[in-house]
Amino acid sequence: MIYNFSAGPAMLPPEVLQQAAQEMSDWRGCGISVMEMSHRSSHYDQIHQQALADFRTLLNVPANYRVLFMQGGGLGQNAIVPLNLCGKQRDAIVDVVVSGGWSAKSAQEAHAYARVNVVAQPEKFTVFPDCPSERFSTNAAYAHVCTNETVHGVEVLIEDARARGAWGLAKEGVVVADMSSHILSRPIDFTQYGVIFAGAQKNIGCAGLTIVVVRDDLLDRARADCPSAFHWQTVAAQNSLYNTPPTYAIYIAGLVFQWLLKQGGVAAMAARNQVKAQLLYDTIDASALYFSSVDPQFRSRMNVPFFLRNDNLNAAFLDAAKEAGLLSLKGHKSLGGMRASIYNAMPIEGVRALVEMMRHFEQRFF
Ligand SMILES: *Cc1c(COP(=O)(O)O)cnc(C)c1O
Repeated sequence: MIYNFSAGPAMLPPEVLQQAAQEMSDWRGCGISVMEMSHRSSHYDQIHQQALADFRTLLNVPANYRVLFMQGGGLGQNAIVPLNLCGKQRDAIVDVVVSGGWSAKSAQEAHAYARVNVVAQPEKFTVFPDCPSERFSTNAAYAHVCTNETVHGVEVLIEDARARGAWGLAKEGVVVADMSSHILSRPIDFTQYGVIFAGAQKNIGCAGLTIVVVRDDLLDRARADCPSAFHWQTVAAQNSLYNTPPTYAIYIAGLVFQWLLKQGGVAAMAARNQVKAQLLYDTIDASALYFSSVDPQFRSRMNVPFFLRNDNLNAAFLDAAKEAGLLSLKGHKSLGGMRASIYNAMPIEGVRALVEMMRHFEQRFF
């Protein structure tokens, strides 16, 4: 048995891969593959509408939010967001919470379109920083936040930070959240967000699709130079069929949505994700060899970076993991150490196999 802990592109549910394989060359008796269908055909339209509807059902998306299927990835949205939201003011200001590598990139990209105010940036990316009201601009076009930092393993939802008194932006402020690596892993309160976006290759499906959810009233704020294919209002008006969408990636995402519905939906996944993450963090915390540097309050349930107290054992650890069928555990190059990404598709058995291997390795070498 192979378990793939890659941060992304990441593992998919085996049932989804099997179904995709079965339907690869002949989608449900129509004689051709999904890849070969016109995006204007009635067959593809079924796939497209079902995927949109199932996504809405899974996250309980309110009626005043539009779901868009786009391309360009998470990084693409770092430019597409300011292009769509900074059209109303001449010298737009964008607030960014820099809580890890990905939001740092978002701040960097926004410089091309707006004046960037860093709301907060902790010295080390091991916490989600407090963001009191006085740190936000009074007239920002939006405040950007990455709710799950995939590299650093820091996770927070704005609704939780607000409940703790650690998020001071007024309710009318527009929050844009990069949820690339934890969308669909837990329920979210849409009233806290103006826009959320996520690349598909972490917790949705395969690379090529980016899902954007935009509140209706934010669709008419684009700059004049926003490319039409990236213009949310244009894409929304055409139900994400303005130009050719990433049809095969949408098909795969649709299969994953069906799989999630069969698993009991997002609330059921959240409960399982909690158990998986707890098992791994408990193993790390109980060990003399492994440690996590993220504040327990902010530890991601999706991406778990951890380190060995003796760096010289890293190569042996990765070899032992591979031997046990546990792949892609090497940490991000900027952090070193290890990282286990345990998205929705990772079964509890995969995490059990990992912690067993970790315990054996510690007994043998430490
Ligand atoms: C992976 C990731 C991105 C970048 O996605 P691309 O599709 O490679 O552009 C952005 N933000 C977060 C949080 C990510 O995990």
